[in-house]
Amino acid sequence: MMSQTTVTMELGEDFIELRESIHKVCEKYPLDYWAKLEEKSAYPTEFVNELTEGGFLAALIPEEYGGAGLPLRAAAVILETINACGCQASPAHAQMYIMGTLLRHGSDDQKKIYLPQIAAGKLRLQAFGVTEPTTGSDTTQLKTRAVRDGEHYVINGQKVWTSRALHSDLMLLLARTTPLDQVTKKTDGISVFLIDLREACGNGVDIRPIKALINHNTTEVFIDNLRVPVSALIGEEGKGFRYILDGLNAERILVASECVGDGRYMVRRAVEYAKERRVFNRAIGENQGIQFPIARAHAELDAADLMARKAAALFDAGAPCGGEANIAKLLASEATWKAADTALQTFGGFGYATEYGIERKWRECRIYQTAPISTNMILSYIAQHMLGMPRSY
Ligand SMILES: Cc1cc2nc3c(=O)[nH]c(=O)nc-3n(C[C@H](O)[C@H](O)[C@H](O)COP(=O)(O)OP(=O)(O)OC[C@H]3O[C@@H](n4cnc5c(N)ncnc54)[C@H](O)[C@@H]3O)c2cc1C
Repeated sequence: MMSQTTVTMELGEDFIELRESIHKVCEKYPLDYWAKLEEKSAYPTEFVNELTEGGFLAALIPEEYGGAGLPLRAAAVILETINACGCQASPAHAQMYIMGTLLRHGSDDQKKIYLPQIAAGKLRLQAFGVTEPTTGSDTTQLKTRAVRDGEHYVINGQKVWTSRALHSDLMLLLARTTPLDQVTKKTDGISVFLIDLREACGNGVDIRPIKALINHNTTEVFIDNLRVPVSALIGEEGKGFRYILDGLNAERILVASECVGDGRYMVRRAVEYAKERRVFNRAIGENQGIQFPIARAHAELDAADLMARKAAALFDAGAPCGGEANIAKLLASEATWKAADTALQTFGGFGYATEYGIERKWRECRIYQTAPISTNMILSYIAQHMLGMPRSY
């Protein structure tokens, strides 16, 4: 079996020590660790715990709350490197995506209560309940309702594809607090709640796993008369949609970097195999028919990586980066899928054998074109917001 973690540094070597530290963690979690998890649809608890204990998942939490206070680019490097090593960043990534909403819009009390515990690994914030079965990408139509009742809100509704909800202590939940027909703008009247799942499960929340193409620990969440204190509301009532939008650029940039990591893994494994595998008395990698798709995948990953770095640099400088973040995610999701398909083709039949770690990654590399946002929504953003074309929905 080929080494999983001999990753050659790609492009500019930023955050080298961080990359090396991640490599050391990932070396302990070889391909068969991930294959065994898949058999049981299990969560990589040990891996996530080790990342947490190493402080990696608190990268974006400010130092005053016990985190590392690193820039977004550092978080991107962490996720990219995990995937480039053949491991899976997704079981741990949401904490980085979601953190910003609590950080930017949470009250001082919420930040003081939750952030130090998240940074110390005592609490996990890994679940984000946005998508619903009947509304999909049209988020403002969401049906989950939160109704104020004295010092509580009573929440009813259903979420789907809420990943890691069974492995998280806290969940950010998007619910409508003012009915759609009573708001002037459809983006108004939606609120964000920080739900303590430890109390909510069995008391208004029922979480059921969804069997899926990839081991993403994703679930359906049924919410039935869940009572949460008013203190669970983040920021002002009715402004939740805007709060979520604020975090989307960071999310796009981090996802783009995860894609780049997965793509790097695929290209590296394809190159190694192409040099090693002999058919017709020669290494298959001597054939340009094998070389060219791999070379193209590498070039396309480099381009996507550059765009992701540009978006991260703008984000970290506090500059507008919506266009760059969306383009980075678009290009990276397509580049990683091409790299994955190329690797599978290069491995021939052996690519289908679980022990090679190619078919798993191939499946994992497909998700980025659908989640957390699908390609058409990104193209629509570019057309409308960057190119000034008419709004289509
Ligand atoms: C493995 C996995 C994990 C996920 N994790 C989470 C999670 O943790 N939390 C969460 O909230 N959600 C999660 N999601 C949900 C994910 O964000 C959605 O699946 C995604 O946003 C697309 O929504 P949808 O599936 O409802 O597709 P739909 O909105 O039904 O769209 C279906 C297709 O139609 C296209 N389409 C729709 N409208 C238009 C239009 N106007 N113009 C052009 N094309 C259009 C879409 O691009 C898409 O290709 C996850 C999904 C998966 C598969």
